[in-house]
Amino acid sequence: MNVNQSAPPVPPFGQPQPVYQGYHQSSYGGQPGSTAPTTPYGAYNGPVPGYQQTSPPGVSRAPPSSEAPPASTAQAPCGQASYGQFGQGDVQNGPSSTVQMQRFPGSQPFGSVPLAPVVSQPTVLQPYGPPPTSAQVTAQLAGMQISGAVAPALPPVGLGYGSPASLASASGSFPNPGLYGSYPQGQAPPLSQAQGHLGAQPPQRSAPPQASTFTSPASGGPRMPSMTGPFLPGQGFGGPSLSQPNHVSSPPPQALPPGTQMTGPPGPPPPMHSSQQPGYQLQQNGSFGPARGPQPNYGSPYPGAPTFGSQPGPPQPLPPKRLDPDAIPSPIQVIEDDRNNRGSEPFVTGVRGQVPPLVTTNFLVKDQGNASPRYIRCTSYNIPCTSDMAKQAQVPLAAVIKPLARLPPEEASPYVVDHGESGPLRCNRCKAYMCPFMQFIEGGRRFQCCFCSCINDVPPQYFQHLDHTGKRVDAYDRPELSLGSYEFLATVDYCKNNKFPSPPAFIFMIDVSYNAIRSGLVRLLCEELKSLLDFLPREGGTEESAIRVGFVTYNKVLHFYNVKSSLAQPQMMVVSDVADMFVPLLDGFLVNVSESRAVITSLLDQIPEMFADTRETETVFAPVIQAGMEALKAAECAGKLFLFHTSLPIAEAPGKLKNRDDRKLINTDKEKTLFQPQTGAYQTLAKECVAQGCCVDLFLFPNQYVDVATLSVVPQLTGGSVYKYACFQVENDQERFLSDLRRDVQKVVGFDAVMRVRTSTGIRAVDFFGAFYMSNTTDVELAGLDGDKTVTVEFKHDDRLNEESGALLQCALLYTSCAGQRRLRIHNLALNCCTQLADLYRNCETDTLINYMAKFAYRGVLNSPVKTVRDTLITQCAQILACYRKNCASPSSAGQLILPECMKLLPVYLNCVLKSDVLQPGAEVTTDDRAYVRQLVTSMDVAETNVFFYPRLLPLTKSPIESATEPPAVRASEERLSNGDIYLLENGLNLFLWVGASVQQGVVQSLFNVSSFSQITSGLSVLPVLDNPLSKKVRGLIDSLRAQRSRLSW
Ligand SMILES: [Zn+2]
Repeated sequence: MNVNQSAPPVPPFGQPQPVYQGYHQSSYGGQPGSTAPTTPYGAYNGPVPGYQQTSPPGVSRAPPSSEAPPASTAQAPCGQASYGQFGQGDVQNGPSSTVQMQRFPGSQPFGSVPLAPVVSQPTVLQPYGPPPTSAQVTAQLAGMQISGAVAPALPPVGLGYGSPASLASASGSFPNPGLYGSYPQGQAPPLSQAQGHLGAQPPQRSAPPQASTFTSPASGGPRMPSMTGPFLPGQGFGGPSLSQPNHVSSPPPQALPPGTQMTGPPGPPPPMHSSQQPGYQLQQNGSFGPARGPQPNYGSPYPGAPTFGSQPGPPQPLPPKRLDPDAIPSPIQVIEDDRNNRGSEPFVTGVRGQVPPLVTTNFLVKDQGNASPRYIRCTSYNIPCTSDMAKQAQVPLAAVIKPLARLPPEEASPYVVDHGESGPLRCNRCKAYMCPFMQFIEGGRRFQCCFCSCINDVPPQYFQHLDHTGKRVDAYDRPELSLGSYEFLATVDYCKNNKFPSPPAFIFMIDVSYNAIRSGLVRLLCEELKSLLDFLPREGGTEESAIRVGFVTYNKVLHFYNVKSSLAQPQMMVVSDVADMFVPLLDGFLVNVSESRAVITSLLDQIPEMFADTRETETVFAPVIQAGMEALKAAECAGKLFLFHTSLPIAEAPGKLKNRDDRKLINTDKEKTLFQPQTGAYQTLAKECVAQGCCVDLFLFPNQYVDVATLSVVPQLTGGSVYKYACFQVENDQERFLSDLRRDVQKVVGFDAVMRVRTSTGIRAVDFFGAFYMSNTTDVELAGLDGDKTVTVEFKHDDRLNEESGALLQCALLYTSCAGQRRLRIHNLALNCCTQLADLYRNCETDTLINYMAKFAYRGVLNSPVKTVRDTLITQCAQILACYRKNCASPSSAGQLILPECMKLLPVYLNCVLKSDVLQPGAEVTTDDRAYVRQLVTSMDVAETNVFFYPRLLPLTKSPIESATEPPAVRASEERLSNGDIYLLENGLNLFLWVGASVQQGVVQSLFNVSSFSQITSGLSVLPVLDNPLSKKVRGLIDSLRAQRSRLSW
């Protein structure tokens, strides 16, 4: 087999050539999907015509509202801030430190940070003993995690990292206690607090931090204030349970081959610093000393294990010391280095097994035979040849696949290949599609499959001669023979019921119960839809979208609307028998927007008026989805439901839910039930939806618990999206909601999709993570799939791999385009295989590893106690690093934590995952917040998980105003915040502006148009538009951040 080992010449249709003879230029994504117009819609000024109500025979006709008075739910306070709740938190202007302390009700008192007790000697690692086992590394890593469970029990012995008073100087802070679950978890001891015995070490890029010693406030070390939740980069290494020096070191910037000593000074290990470290626990254990054999008493890899050393007495509270936070590998530095080293050259995909630039680097891709990293990223680009080796290394082998990823304008969309009636050429045995790795033989009359080695005949119409190298002479004229990604037009054989599909439909289903009306949501939404419907996705080149639309409103009953173009007024049909849902009309329900514009506009004008006086507070939910799905079924098309829903569906109907939120379950074995749906009805419904190609996008506007874990089941299994706006109020939240809505409605979607990942002999796809449904073990079924959704696929060995032939992946996605065209999108990727572990460790990608590990963990909480999930993550990380140390690194002192160059951020990032709301909720994080984030992360791509777990913190006034570039980020830790500056913080979902208390008055004036810090209005969701350079620069920066993310608002 001849896998492309070198870059072939640029094919004649290489990017970005718009015209390619014989192939349709794909129009997929040909519209501005990612750039929603900011103010694209004119106001609607039409009259509000009369409302005409009719009922078909047999359909009960009910008033739009019932008599039920608003229940208390309607007035439920929105006390708990939550995800997506920006109400009070966007701009901080609290000058008083006292006030700030009060703003973190969920935080642990500072004094009780669990540093001291964990400094007990659980992990008796011998400083000069043999290299640590993975269990020992586990113990080292375990120190990274902040055991929230331990924290509250600890006395504030002054071992914390700062008394409340010491925080006073950190005047600015993120104000909203519920801002964002991960930020304000005060109980997390700061990572970067660990103290290193740095004095003894020569300066290094990453100095060897000392473990288990934390400075007291008095020691003058930098504080780690309360909001450090997810950003505590250093914590890992200074973790409380580390009872010995852990040399967190990384190699010099130039990549060293694995196996190079990556730690501090080679040679004799550093002294134990017993004299310098009064609190050093090992001394109490008597374990300090020359090299010894394995620790007989080493029992548990986790902190807190009771038996360690010969004197397991309680640790004496001693003043902890700090690690120098700068000694921890810096994500900012790694990101910056990669930008500098790899951002200027295009990434050419012709070479097998190349590790692409980081997701944080801006780079162009040239497809020369392998799929762009925008479509597929792998945890490793060099796979161990044997399963034994893979097991030894414990590095998960996974690919994060985003089949319909949007590309930057400079890169061409995949070409569409039309083979006519014969359809795409495939291997007869394994059904893999023709791709650049297929080997043509016998003068071109046959080809050998690169996946299963089967020899296939080349059909006469596809025959072509080979050149002297054995390549087809037309190889560079055919996308499927020279590119990593392309599309085939599917034949009728690939269609449901052997019938080409109809164009898909969008159905808008609007909750018109009391809460939805009262908050202003219904009016806002209807007004927006009038103009947004002009921006439905369409194939490039066409004037008009082929998508038809329909409308339903509901509370306890459903109202269908006939908006047929021939009608003067819309007609309403009410279905009150929600137990046996049916669609009361076929003709006139799904219509073309331009044909029925007048009737649709009339309807959207009337809906807010019709229900203005409703007192109905109860809603149904499952029957609404059922109705939409039945409507698509009746119209024989796929499509998407947009549900706008406000409350727990307690009305008597299928899928009725009860409030089962119980925070007492947190940290118990029953915690998993909080993440599980409370009824199986929604899975059954989702399965029906998938069969129909009915994707469900859910917009939630809850005032209190709505059971996101259950309500999100159908969106999750149908490839849909969930959005959540707690305590929605038009004034505060409309910007955000409309931005999400516009993007969601306009984005290009593939419908009724099936994805399969084929692999060459030796490995196979064994596990899948994402928003989809699977009815067998190989096919990922997606009622809908948009350009933001990813599927993470894990691979395992089933045979030995071969270094020479490498390993191949082929992802084939069969879907219906927005115009109703059935297509196959193919992505191919060739990976290297290795017999040396060092090669594996040299070709990993930590960001992708974290994506996989987070998804693995987030699924794990459905079935296991959260602590078990956390421990599993730590153990795996420890095993990965221990294997590297044992096999690839040169001997070093046992206390040193040695990190492979490309994994040097693994402990830092993993720590962020461990501290995320799903795995370690703060007191202010609601059950719904956790369920919401859990399902969001499930379909995130690598860039999204990267910034979600390690947010970006940008200082705004440090760089010159005239500089057009984005200011350099700083490490995401509160101690990096200066009172004299203003910062933007973003994690891909939320954006915060942090204003330091002593920021210059002129800056405040320029940005907020007020004269002093104390006059800044907290809770602003937009900055005033002011005509000065700083204001323009900051607003421009915010716009550019929002343009980079699929959902980001403030
Ligand atoms: Zn085959």
